[in-house]
Amino acid sequence: VTFVDLDLAPELLSALSSSGYEHPTPIQAQSIPPALAGRDLLLSAQTGSGKTAAFVLPMLDKIIRDKATNKVVHTVILTPTRELANQVSDSVRQYSSKTRNIFSVPLVGGAPYGGQIRALNKGVQVIIATPGRFIDHMNSGRIDLSELDILILDEADRMLDMGFADDIEKVMQAAPKSRQTIMCSATWDGPVGKIAASFTNNPERIAI
Ligand code: AMP
Repeated sequence: VTFVDLDLAPELLSALSSSGYEHPTPIQAQSIPPALAGRDLLLSAQTGSGKTAAFVLPMLDKIIRDKATNKVVHTVILTPTRELANQVSDSVRQYSSKTRNIFSVPLVGGAPYGGQIRALNKGVQVIIATPGRFIDHMNSGRIDLSELDILILDEADRMLDMGFADDIEKVMQAAPKSRQTIMCSATWDGPVGKIAASFTNNPERIAI
């Protein structure tokens, strides 16, 4: 399989080929088609498997196809750590480098509020955030989730281990019911399984 076979938008194919990526990794080949079809997904794959692109590429494809260029929040990606949020944010920029009018911002704790607030005021379609800082901005009325299309929880088990269960539930409840939900986790036992059962709809499970 090549990325062309997966029917991704030309702008994404061009960014992939600039990165030197021609063939999807196994997690990408399995996740991209159901994600593009709008299915909820429960992904279990290790770092290094290409899991970031497995959820970022279909998300960007949807923004391009929906012509969602009006700077309203379309996708929120939550990660347990600042480092991971910044890495995912870099991937979003890498894969959207040939796409006009897609704006994203990382919102992480420990970083100054000023730049984050300015980015939110200008408008973004994609937010990559750690839960605490995301909730701060949400509670201050700076984030409108009414048009949210996709909610992604990366390393959901770790976020729960770190004590973010209440924050995650708040975000899940603030997001429209019609959204697509993609969760990544090494395990589905315990609290992360409960969150998956409560907040996803007939998810497809993919484990590599
Ligand atoms: P991840 O598992 O998401 O942390 O990705 C691991 C590394 O693989 C990252 O440096 C990606 O840029 C790279 N990568 C992702 N997808 C592909 C691909 N299809 N072909 C080659 N490298 C890739």
